[in-house]
Amino acid sequence: GAAHAEDKTLVVGTDTSFMPFEFKQGDKYVGFDLDLWAEIAKDLKLKYTIQPMDFAGLIPALQTSNIDVALSGMTIKEERKKVIDFSDPYYDSGLAAMVRTDNTTIHSIDDLNGKVVAAKTGTATIDWIKAHLKPAEIRQFPNTDEAYMALEAGRVDAAMHDTPNVQFFVNTAGKGKVKVAGTPVSGDKYGIGFPKGSPLVPQVNAELARMKADGRYAQLYRKWFGSEP
Ligand code: GLN
Repeated sequence: GAAHAEDKTLVVGTDTSFMPFEFKQGDKYVGFDLDLWAEIAKDLKLKYTIQPMDFAGLIPALQTSNIDVALSGMTIKEERKKVIDFSDPYYDSGLAAMVRTDNTTIHSIDDLNGKVVAAKTGTATIDWIKAHLKPAEIRQFPNTDEAYMALEAGRVDAAMHDTPNVQFFVNTAGKGKVKVAGTPVSGDKYGIGFPKGSPLVPQVNAELARMKADGRYAQLYRKWFGSEP
């Protein structure tokens, strides 16, 4: 007979490193997305394990049901909605460009035209650059650790990724070495990803709404972003 949904241990796929939404601290995965999911899972009495993987692997893993949930600051996009389901939006994001502090030629995102730009494979950033810019090259990396290292080493002219992640890097590991170039692009919204038709979507949406109403969402937002949602 069919197993009861509540008995199943869900596999939650996360990006290996997308600060401050999901990243490794010691031997634990922490971040805004992890905290948000922990609250949702507690209320819905869901058991789960965390499966870190490269961002580009998440949508294929949802399509084959190798994972049950993708928790990854994933931008809700029409093309993606054709192959996976998303929760309601839970975070307003955008895209920002970053250069070395010694860079004197790139002052705006348009200045990336003709330059070598690092970005993470399979992300909304790649789509955005292709649609709006003419860089000399988009150098793709499976994760931002490698992309940002290439920028620090001067192997690329700029890196572009989600604004909160770029901002976090500029304020922490990249402090004094890199800076945001120009004005970030806004308009992205993050959703939690699910295989098409997952019965979890309406349940998770109800929990998100409840957490927004009872202040738990704002509390987590303050904890990870230091500001009001
Ligand atoms: N928001 C970006 C996207 O969905 C990527 C987020 C991430 O790097 N985990 O394409």
